[in-house]
Amino acid sequence: MEVQEPVTAAERKLTITPKALIHQKYGPKARYTIEEVKQSVDNGCPGLIIPQQSRSLYRCCLSLPELSVTSDTFTKKKDAEQSAAKMAVEKLGIQSKPTHLTPQEAWNELVARFSILFSDEFLSSSHPLLGHFRVAFRRVGNLYSMIPLSAIAAYDVKVNNLCKIIDPKAESDPLLVFSFIWKAARMSDSVCTTTAGGFWIWKQGPYSPEALELLMNCDLDSMDTVHIEAVRIPHSIEGNIETFSLEFSGNQYYMDEVAQKLDARDASQLLVSRIVGKASSEMRLYFSAPEYAVTFSDSTADVCSNTDGNASLEPLLNKQASYLSGQAIYGDAILVNVGYAWKSPGLFYENVNLCTYYRMLLSKVPDGHYKLSREAILVAELPTAFTARSNWMAPLPRDLLCMFCRQHRFLEPIFSVQGIDSSETAKEECKKMKLTRPAGDQMPVDTDRVSDKPATFKCEVKILSRRREIILECSSGNTYKKEFDAIQNVALEVLTWFSKYFKQLDMPIENLPSFALDHNVRMHPINFCREFELLVSIYRGKQNYNSRKCTSLGSIYKGRFDPNQDNAVILDDMEGDDSGMFPSHGSLTCINYAVTLRSKEEPIKELIESKDEFEFEIGSGSVIKQLETCVSQLSVNQSARFTTSLPSRDLLLAAAGECTKNLSNISLSNCFLEYSLRVLRVTEPMEERLEQAFFSPPLSKQRVEFAVRHINESNLVSLVDFGCGSGSLLDSLLEHSTTLERIVGVDISCKALTRAAKIIHSKLSKNSVLQDSIKSAVLYDGSITDFDSRLYGFDIGTCLEVIEHMEEDQACLFGDVVLSSFCPRILVISTPNYEYNPILQKSSFPNKEEDSEEKSSTTCRFRNHDHKFEWTRQQFEQWATDLSVRHNYSVEFSGVGGSGDVEPGFASQIAVFRIRSNRAEEKLLENRESACPYRVIWEWNHCSSSAV
Ligand code: SAH
Ligand code: MG
Repeated sequence: MEVQEPVTAAERKLTITPKALIHQKYGPKARYTIEEVKQSVDNGCPGLIIPQQSRSLYRCCLSLPELSVTSDTFTKKKDAEQSAAKMAVEKLGIQSKPTHLTPQEAWNELVARFSILFSDEFLSSSHPLLGHFRVAFRRVGNLYSMIPLSAIAAYDVKVNNLCKIIDPKAESDPLLVFSFIWKAARMSDSVCTTTAGGFWIWKQGPYSPEALELLMNCDLDSMDTVHIEAVRIPHSIEGNIETFSLEFSGNQYYMDEVAQKLDARDASQLLVSRIVGKASSEMRLYFSAPEYAVTFSDSTADVCSNTDGNASLEPLLNKQASYLSGQAIYGDAILVNVGYAWKSPGLFYENVNLCTYYRMLLSKVPDGHYKLSREAILVAELPTAFTARSNWMAPLPRDLLCMFCRQHRFLEPIFSVQGIDSSETAKEECKKMKLTRPAGDQMPVDTDRVSDKPATFKCEVKILSRRREIILECSSGNTYKKEFDAIQNVALEVLTWFSKYFKQLDMPIENLPSFALDHNVRMHPINFCREFELLVSIYRGKQNYNSRKCTSLGSIYKGRFDPNQDNAVILDDMEGDDSGMFPSHGSLTCINYAVTLRSKEEPIKELIESKDEFEFEIGSGSVIKQLETCVSQLSVNQSARFTTSLPSRDLLLAAAGECTKNLSNISLSNCFLEYSLRVLRVTEPMEERLEQAFFSPPLSKQRVEFAVRHINESNLVSLVDFGCGSGSLLDSLLEHSTTLERIVGVDISCKALTRAAKIIHSKLSKNSVLQDSIKSAVLYDGSITDFDSRLYGFDIGTCLEVIEHMEEDQACLFGDVVLSSFCPRILVISTPNYEYNPILQKSSFPNKEEDSEEKSSTTCRFRNHDHKFEWTRQQFEQWATDLSVRHNYSVEFSGVGGSGDVEPGFASQIAVFRIRSNRAEEKLLENRESACPYRVIWEWNHCSSSAV
C-alpha cells in the first residue's frame, strides 16, 4: 500500500540536528558542559592585547554514558554544542544524514573499512573494539592477534550501517551481517581470514611496535575474577528460561566464556545481536552460528545465508529471543550484559536476572511502559481516559505510544492535528442544539458563545512498519479545545486498542478488522499480521504448552486479572476510624501498599511489590479494579487488606525484583496475592480545589447553605434532593433542627449513595431531637430523568451541581420531567457559570511543580472533567425561563460566590422555581399513574431503624 506522508516524515526525521538525535537517544543522560575560552584577537601589535577586542569562544564537552567528546571552539555556544553532538553521533555511528550510497558503493566501503579497523592509527583511537584487540594481542599460540568476526559485526556501527545499505534485511538478521562481513573481509587486501576452523580476522602484515605498546599500555590484570548472572532463553518455547552464572577472570576473553556456555567451538562462532536493553547498556543476545548455515570448503569458505525467508533455518528460529530483540536469533540464546565500553579499557558488566528479562518483555506490551514507569506492576493499569496532565502520573500517552512503536521497530507514529474552524463548530453546535432540544422548544443559539469560541482540534494517528507499510490508523471521533489534548487522547485510544488486542492474541484474523473498527481503528490486516506474527505464534505455542503443565509460564500479555473472577473484593482487617474524608471520583488519592505472595497450604509470605506512596486518580481506571473498589470504601487513615488470584508467572517475575530467586523454588499452584494498603491522603478534584482556594467558605458549602436557608425559611415538610451524591446537602440539613419530616435523596451512583447512607445514618442515630422530627429518610438509586411517583408533589426539590454532569439533552429532559411530573412546590437548581471560569483558571493556586507546557494542559475547558457542559448566564436564564413558562412556574435567579451585580456574575448560578398557586391545585388533582423505577438503597423510619 502506497502512503504519501511517511516519506516526508522520514525525511524530516533524517534532517534532524545532531543534538536532537542525541536527545532522542539519551534524553537527560546527555550532559553538555560549556567551557569559555578567552582568545585574543591579533591586532597587529604583538604582545599587546586590547581587552575589548578579545572575543569569547566556546568549547563544549558532551558526556554520554559510553563516551565523551569535546568540540572545537566556536563563537556561539549553540554551535559548540551541535559540533560536540555531531562528533558523538559520528563516533556512535548513529546517522543523522541519510547516506546516499548505492549498495555497490556501500559494498566497496565495507571492504575498505577493514584497512581502517586493522591499522596502527586505529589502535591509538578510542573504540569498543579495542578491548577485543587487547585480548587478541595477549593471546599466545595460533590465535594471536585474531579478532572474531562477530565482534566486528556487533561493535563497529559503521560496518553495520553499510550492511543495511547493501541489504535492508541486515537490520533484522545478524546472520546476514555476518555473511557480508565475512565475504568483504576475504576480499580485502588488508586482512587475513581463517580458512578452516572458525571465523577469525587479523591484519595482513605487522603493526608498528609503538602502536602496539600504546594499546597494551593499560593494566588489565588487576581485574578480579567476576561472576555475572545471565539468562538463557532456550530455543524451544517449552524449555525453561533460567539464570546461570558466568565467570570472567582478568585475562580471559568474555566471548570465549559465552561461547563455551553455548557449546560453540570458540568466540568466532558466536553471533551477537544489537543492544536490546537500555541504550547505555551492553545487553545483547548471543547465539552460536547455526551449523547448517555455515559451510566451509577450503578455499571458498562461505556463509550461506538464505536471505529469502531463511526457510532452511526456520525450525531453528528462537522465537522468544527473536521477538525480544526484533532480530532473527537461532538456537539457544544467552542474554548477557557485558562488553567493552568507549570510555574505559576495562570490561563493563552487569547482572541480568529473570526480573530483567520479564521487564523487557513487559516493556513490549502496550501498557507495559505505563506500569514500569509507575514502578507498580501489580497495581497500575493504563487509564481509560486522559483527563488532565496533573492527574496523569506517567509519561504522556503520546510518549507511551512512541515507546511502544520503537519497541516493535515501527516508525514513529505520525500524528496529524486538524483544527476545526470556529464557524464550522458553531454550525455543528447549532445543529446539535436543535437536535437535543425537546420538540417545540426553539431556543435561540447564543451568539456570544458562538463567536467567542476558539477553534477545536481533532487528531489522527498513523502507525507504519519499518517498510513504510501502514499497519493501522485511528481517528478519534472527539474534538478538543487544545491540540495537546487531541493528540494525547488519540494516542491513548490506540494504546487502549492494542492493549485489548494483546489480551486476545488468539483472535481469528477475520475478526480483527471489525474489532478494530469498534474502537475507531482502521487496520490493514495483512501488514498488521505480518508485524505480529511472531508474537502470535509464541502466544499460541505457550497456550498449548500451558495446558500441559500448569505453571502459567505463558504470556505476560494475557495474564492480567480476570475482571469477572475477581470483581468482588472482600476486605479483611479494616482498621482505623472513619475520618470522613473519602476518595471521590476525580480526586487524587495517595496510598501506601504492599503485595505479598501467600499460599493456601504453606506458610509462604514473600513480599513482591510495595510502595510508601502511590498516588492515582479515582475513577480513571489507572489501577486494578479490586484496588479501586477497596480504596473507595475507605477514608483517609484507614487501612485494609484483600486478596486476588495470581497473575501470570511472567508478570509476577517482572514485579518481583530481587526476590525472583526465591520464587523459582515455590510452587505457585496454590498461591494467591494479598494486597494490604492504607489511604494516606486525598486531593480533591480540580473543581473542589479551585472552589476551596477561591471562596471562603468553599463554594460547595455556600451552595448547600443557600439551599438550607430556603428550606428552613419556608416551613417545608418534605424534601427531595435530585442527584444527592454523597449527601452533602442532607448532611448539612441534619446539623440543626428542621421542620422537615420526609427527606429523600436520588442518585445514579451507588458508591455515592452508600456514603450518603453512612453519614445520614450516623447523624440520625446519634441525635434524638432529629429522631423526633424526621419521620422518614430514603435514598434511591435511579436516574432523575425517569419519573417515580413516590417522589411526586414534594414541598421542595433541590438539584445542586447536577445538570452539568448530564448530556445537554438529558438536562433539558430533566427540567421538563421535574416540573411536569414531580411537581415540587419549589425547585432549586444550581450549575456553574461558564463565564466565571477564566477567573478560576487564570490564577494559579498552590499545586505541584509543573512545567509550563504541563500547566497549560491542566486547565480543562470546564471546571471538572466530568462536566458535559457549562452554561453562560444567558444560556442558563434562557433555559430556565422557557422551562418555567412551559410548566407554569415562576423563576428567580441568584447565585453564590462573587456577586450578581459585578461581571461576570456569580461563580455558581442558581434558579429558584415556584409553582403558580392556581396551577398547584390543578396539578395535585391530576390522576397520575404510579411508576416506581427507583430502587431503595437505604431507608430510615421513625420507629424502626434502618434497612438496606
Ligand atoms: N448534589 C451533590 C452532588 C453533585 S455531583 C452535591 O452538591 O454535592 C453530581 C451528581 O449527580 C453525582 O453524584 C452524579 O452521580 C449525579 N447524577 C448525574 N446524572 C444523574 C442522573 N441522571 N440521575 C441521578 N443522578 C445523577
Ligand atoms: Mg459539578
